[in-house]
This record gives sequence, structure tokens and C-alpha cells, in this order.
Amino acid sequence: MNCLLCHNDSNDFEADTFLCPVCKLVFKNPDIFLSAEEDVTRYSHHNNISTDQGYLDFLGKLVNPLKEFLPKKFTALDFGCGPGPTLSGLLENLGGVVENYDPIFFPDGHLLIPDSYDVVTSTEVVEHFKTPGFDWEILVGLVKDGGLLGIMTQIYSPDIDYSKWWYKNDPTHIVFYQKETFDFIAEKYNLEILYCDNKSITIFKKRDF
Ligand SMILES: [Zn+2]
Repeated sequence: MNCLLCHNDSNDFEADTFLCPVCKLVFKNPDIFLSAEEDVTRYSHHNNISTDQGYLDFLGKLVNPLKEFLPKKFTALDFGCGPGPTLSGLLENLGGVVENYDPIFFPDGHLLIPDSYDVVTSTEVVEHFKTPGFDWEILVGLVKDGGLLGIMTQIYSPDIDYSKWWYKNDPTHIVFYQKETFDFIAEKYNLEILYCDNKSITIFKKRDF
């Protein structure tokens, strides 16, 4: 099976799951990916309501380290905001002019203009990418040179027993990143990693030439 991110030959890892020896991406067999219709049904049951304190605390895991790097005023896009945009409000409180995009709930393709945002955030999205080699190019492309890209996704590492890992049990979670995968992405797309907690948060800066 070719790696979905870097297209190198990948190795069998667990049942219906592969590991790329080059970029260290762990990915499920595309044969078991849900259809687009099944994805929509599943996402509609995601329950992120902006007044829920638990959800605000959850988003704080990204916002708190991110705010150390934010300029006073900035433009931002929350890519994959879900049915109840919440992160945008937190970023607006920090000086942002923020747009919400979601391929299912807020599918305004006009917002996906390359090189147009100082900050792009994407929380619990990149693990859903069916074509990560393509999807990361779109995502990174949205960020202006010198801008920030804040990602939240559970980071896999070999000390996690994959067969018992809760995060893989959601059938819409299909690609998993190790710290080395983010190093690979940084190298490929001219990003610098400003912050990584090795658990779920990675903040990149797009290099300014
Ligand atoms: Zn790879």
C-alpha cells in the first residue's frame, strides 16, 4: 500500500492499518473508509455547542499556546469548524477577524483562497483526511507567508498500544500523525514547528522568504 501522504511503500501495522517508514503516517486501509454520506451522518452527531464549558476548555488546549504567537490584529480561518463554530469566537476575542469553513456545515469555497490568512486553525480535522497528500497542500496553502497554522489531532507514538487506542475507534478517524510526521510535513511545506506538546497540539509557522 502506498502512503497516503508521501506515497512511499508502507508496511502492514495492525489489522487494516499501515505504517509509512518514511513519514511515519499511520493510516487505515482506504477500502474501509466510510462513504461521504456515512461521514455526514456521523458528523451530524458530533455535539460541539459553543456554551459547553468542557468544549471551551478543550479548545483552550490550542488557543492558550497559540495566543503567545498571535499579532495584535490578524485575519484567521477555522478550517473544519463543524456544526457549531466556537473557536472563531475565542480568536475574535484575541483580535482576530475570523471566517468559518467546513466542507459539510459551512461549505463556502470562496473562503479557500491561497495565501490569505495570518492564522489558520484546524481542530479534530486532519485525522479525517482521506487524501492527506492533497488536503495538507490546500490547508497549508491558505496561510500567508510568515503566518500560523494551529492543528489539534491526537498524536500517535509507539508507546501507545494501537490495538487499544480509543482514538482509532471512530470510523471517521483514518489517518494518524506521529511527531515525525509533523516534522516531515514541516520540511515538505516550508513550515517551522513553533510548538508541539507531543499529545494533540502542533503550531506551525509558514516560513517567510
Ligand atoms: Zn509516508
